[in-house]
Amino acid sequence: MAGLYVHIPFCKKRCRYCDFFSTTRLERQEVYVAALVKEIAARKDEAGEPIRTIYFGGGTPSTLAPQDITRILDAVGIDEAEEITMELNPGDASPAYMQALRDIGINRLSIGIQSFQDDLLTLIGRRHNAQQAINAVRMAQEAGFTNLSIDLMYALPTQTMAAWQADIETALSLGVQHISSYGLIYEQGTALTQAVESGELEAIDEETENAMYDELCSRLKQAGFVHYEVSNFALPGYEAKHNSRYWDHTPYIGVGAGAHTYIPPVRSWNKDDLEAYIQGDGIRESETLTETDLYNERIMLGLRTNRGIVGPISVHSRKQMDEYIHKGLLRRTDDDRIVATQEGIHILNRIIEDLMI
Ligand code: SF4
Repeated sequence: MAGLYVHIPFCKKRCRYCDFFSTTRLERQEVYVAALVKEIAARKDEAGEPIRTIYFGGGTPSTLAPQDITRILDAVGIDEAEEITMELNPGDASPAYMQALRDIGINRLSIGIQSFQDDLLTLIGRRHNAQQAINAVRMAQEAGFTNLSIDLMYALPTQTMAAWQADIETALSLGVQHISSYGLIYEQGTALTQAVESGELEAIDEETENAMYDELCSRLKQAGFVHYEVSNFALPGYEAKHNSRYWDHTPYIGVGAGAHTYIPPVRSWNKDDLEAYIQGDGIRESETLTETDLYNERIMLGLRTNRGIVGPISVHSRKQMDEYIHKGLLRRTDDDRIVATQEGIHILNRIIEDLMI
């Protein structure tokens, strides 16, 4: 079974921390959707397996009208989808829009809340406020959505531990099934990075960032969430099916400007150039993963998830692994998988790098 990722690179306003590929030229949406429909028709069978999950990501997919989403879904033409997720900005929510999304077959929403603190939302340049975020979840629930994910960010400049704890509690009080949470990354050239570089804002220190992450993990665990990937938490049975493909290494087709595809062992991607894409300039680049690449991906993806590393390990990796186990940063489970400890997750990238060949 394969997945389909649909990239919608439109945003009404750019956030101050973002370096994703997106544009505010919403007037290009109609022709973009027409190009998407063409690409889907040409490529939907490429994986050689039926598509069972669809993910609308962005950008901001909720800038699209329900009719546009319907055109895309009709082009895919599947009658049996396990999961159809759409990312939604709380600023786009209304009871009628939520109902329309349900009616056309979207069965999971990923709501980009980021924070329930108005001062922090303004600081990072989001276009919604805390009340709109809460309302968006309630509207989705009233429209009948029973599989909701929200995004939360931590380690934001000026964010206190008390404000972060309050955000976690608000998230839990909303009754959502899934939470994705990311520490702020200062991408080169973004407005927020420049503000920190110029001294206008101060970045949160590493110790506080780690403490915020630990607080998140322990509170969500206490509330019954499974920590199944470094940044993802789900009530049992609500793990993201589509996103799990990225971590399981199962095939997915990506359509739209800048979208990535993985059909083992080949990874390919569309150019992130909106106008070229609309003109049908479908030149895709690709790379074939070598045995070494696949091994290293197994190490990386294994340690990022609660499944851990399974299967044969090289002499080099084993030596490194034993040292990290000795330091309490990795541990061996009863069924012989290697997983990162809570302390190990703080320096996970370094551990992964050391274990790779
Ligand atoms: S809405 Fe998302 S993609 Fe658009 S600018 Fe903000 S963070 Fe980036």
